Amino acid sequence: MEGIIKYQAIWTDKSPISKSEFEKINFFRSLAVKRSYMGIGADGIGYGNISYRLDSNNQFIISSSATGGISIADRGDYSKVIDFDISNNEIYCKGNKIASSESLTHAAIYQSNPEIKAVLHIHNEELWQKHLFQLPTTSEDIEYGSVAMAEAIAELIKTYSDNKGAFVMGGHREGIIAFGESLQDCIEILEGL
Ligand SMILES: [Zn+2]
Repeated sequence: MEGIIKYQAIWTDKSPISKSEFEKINFFRSLAVKRSYMGIGADGIGYGNISYRLDSNNQFIISSSATGGISIADRGDYSKVIDFDISNNEIYCKGNKIASSESLTHAAIYQSNPEIKAVLHIHNEELWQKHLFQLPTTSEDIEYGSVAMAEAIAELIKTYSDNKGAFVMGGHREGIIAFGESLQDCIEILEGL
């Protein structure tokens, strides 16, 4: 069963991301927190994750695991994904902390379309209800964080004629993903929902 394969982070190096990498992402993370696209849920667990592509080799900077609830992030709250293997659910990362457990989803999007440079995954009950099956929606039967989900998202991304957009995660309540050519695109797309 693909659905039960657990995400594996292969943590290669604990040095933090660079100052310039931090500055490129943190402004938009702060905006996302301000809009409650990222934050702490009623269950006390942090939610949401954000990333941007570094280069054409599908490497990206992403918020680290379990940092969604941190209001002001520092360099240590981000990780660099240097490689991944979707079929084995493996992420190779660097940073003070391991990469977000939802990194495979971001990886699948970057791999699917080289023009996509940024991804923002949010939780929002109201937007999720409003757009479920109105926007493209992944199957309710696919468990989040699974290889099957990453593969479904890769297929879904190929159906967009544009390099920016949003979709609903049918099997991940409150989960919405925006992607675009920049983090600014992601914020604007979400604001327009
Ligand atoms: Zn989520």
